[in-house]
Amino acid sequence: MRNAKSVKAKMCLSLIILSILAGVGCSSSEPAPSESTTQLTIQTMPTSEEISPETSAVVTPAPTEEPTPTPMPTPIPTPEPEYIEPTKDEVWYDGFVDPRSIRAEIVTNPDDVTVLVNKYYALPLDYVPDDLVATSHSMNQQLRAEAAEAWEQMYLDCLEETGQGIFLVSGYRDTNTQQYLFDRSVNLRSLAFACKKNAWPGRSEHQLGLALDITPAGYDNIMDDFDKTTVGQWICENGHKYGLIHRYKEEFVYETGYGIEGWHFRYVGVDLATYLYENHMSLEAYYGKQQVVPWDE
Ligand SMILES: [Zn+2]
Repeated sequence: MRNAKSVKAKMCLSLIILSILAGVGCSSSEPAPSESTTQLTIQTMPTSEEISPETSAVVTPAPTEEPTPTPMPTPIPTPEPEYIEPTKDEVWYDGFVDPRSIRAEIVTNPDDVTVLVNKYYALPLDYVPDDLVATSHSMNQQLRAEAAEAWEQMYLDCLEETGQGIFLVSGYRDTNTQQYLFDRSVNLRSLAFACKKNAWPGRSEHQLGLALDITPAGYDNIMDDFDKTTVGQWICENGHKYGLIHRYKEEFVYETGYGIEGWHFRYVGVDLATYLYENHMSLEAYYGKQQVVPWDE
C-alpha cells in the first residue's frame, strides 16, 4: 500500500510537473506572435541610412556605367547663321523700325558677355543663361553671376562716393515677360512707341541676364532722366570701371535702333566697357553693325 501510494504520489508529481511545463509552454506561446511582430518590426523599419543605398542600388544603374553609352556632344564644325524671317516688309515709325519686319540673325555666342543683341541680332529661341543668381538691392531680380558681382561692387562704391544708393528695377527677363512688355507697350501706348522703346522677344539684352535698368534707391520704377540724377551721372562716368556701358544714349539712337533710355545699362566686361567709354562708341559701332536707316541709303 505504502509503495503503491508513493508510486501514485510520484506519478501525480510527474503529472503536475508536466502540466506546469505544458502550462509554461502554453503561456510562453502567447507572447510568441508579439516576439515575431517585434522581429518583423525591426526588419521592416530599417533606418534611412539603410534604405537609401539599397533602394538606389536597386533603382539606379551604377553611375560608372552611365557615361559610356552616352555620346559626347560634338562641336558644330561650321556655325552657319540662322535667321528669324520677317513677317512683313520693313516698317518704320518715326525713325524706329518694327522688329517683326526685320530678318534677324541668330547669334552663335549667346554666353559671351560681349555679344551683340538688338533688333537685327537675336538669341536662340530657347536660350536661358545657366549662371543666373539672385541680385542684391533689387526686388527678386536676377543677373548672370559676373554682372551681379559687378553690380554689388558698383553699389558700394556709388554709396560711398555719392552718399546715395541705387536700385535694380529690372535684370534678367525670360522671353514670355519680354513678349508681355512689348504687347503691353503696344496696348497702352502704340506700336510706334513699342518699336522705339521695347525689344521683341529674343532680341532683348535683358534675356542675356546682362542688362540692368537702374533707378535711385527709394524708387521702384525707371525714370526717364535717371542719367541726370546724382547717382545716374556717377554711373555714366564710372560704370565702365565695373564693366557697364550706358547703352541707349542720344548720340547712339540711330545706331542702336532704340530711343533714349537713361536707365538702361549693359554689362560687357571691364575691358570692352572702358574701350567703348573712352572712344564714345556704341556696341553696334564697335562691331561695325550700326543700324542702316532708310534715309541714309
Ligand atoms: Zn532695360
